[in-house]
Amino acid sequence: MKTIGLLGGMSWESTQSYYRALNEGVKAALGGLHSAKIVLYSVDFAEIEARQHAGEWARMATMLGDAAVAVERAGADFLLIGTNTMHKVAPEVQARITIPLLHIADATAQVLEEQGIARVGLLGTRFTMEETFYRERLEARGIEVLVPEAAERETVHRVIYEELCLGQINEASRATYLAIVDALAARGAQGVILGCTEIALLLQQPHTRVPLFDTTAIHAAQAVRQAIAARPEHRGHE
Ligand code: GLU
Repeated sequence: MKTIGLLGGMSWESTQSYYRALNEGVKAALGGLHSAKIVLYSVDFAEIEARQHAGEWARMATMLGDAAVAVERAGADFLLIGTNTMHKVAPEVQARITIPLLHIADATAQVLEEQGIARVGLLGTRFTMEETFYRERLEARGIEVLVPEAAERETVHRVIYEELCLGQINEASRATYLAIVDALAARGAQGVILGCTEIALLLQQPHTRVPLFDTTAIHAAQAVRQAIAARPEHRGHE
């Protein structure tokens, strides 16, 4: 089994979801007492959040790049960045390491393709919803991406930082998110991406008939497949 590298702590509330999903996935696949081999580098999210809102992306690319180098040195075979937003610096992180980075938007696009989704809504931080680094990976595969209206985006963003990343699950925020999901569906979205790794703590499939795509679960499932994939035979006695 390969060792999964994970840059976590962004926030730790969702890193818990990753840790559980990775271990449950390996257990489901291999049975018994099997569990995932993981090298986790968990950051102090307060430093990240302050730099995000100050626009200090180059500094964060260095910080996450340093963490990725440490994870590779500790024996990881491939890397996950456990947040959608911080994939804004994914190219700089990948450039610092020799192991592959499994991009969360690519993993999500693959699932959307498999399910024949051509138009999808996207919920996430303002960075994820409003900038191109995320949606362009979906659009490159011919998937149309709809984001909420400006005031709704503001609300979605605020709930992520002021509630979900602090472990607060509020009924009123769930109702607000559900109304935003319905509005996206009314505009033609065939499903909605939970494009922030904490949103599934608030909103799950039983809450709505609109298909939800939980990026944490999708990313973790892809990592599990990668970790337990059979080694190619042509690599010989290595
Ligand atoms: N975990 C969130 C995401 O997936 C937001 C926290 C962050 O800004 O990294 O985007």
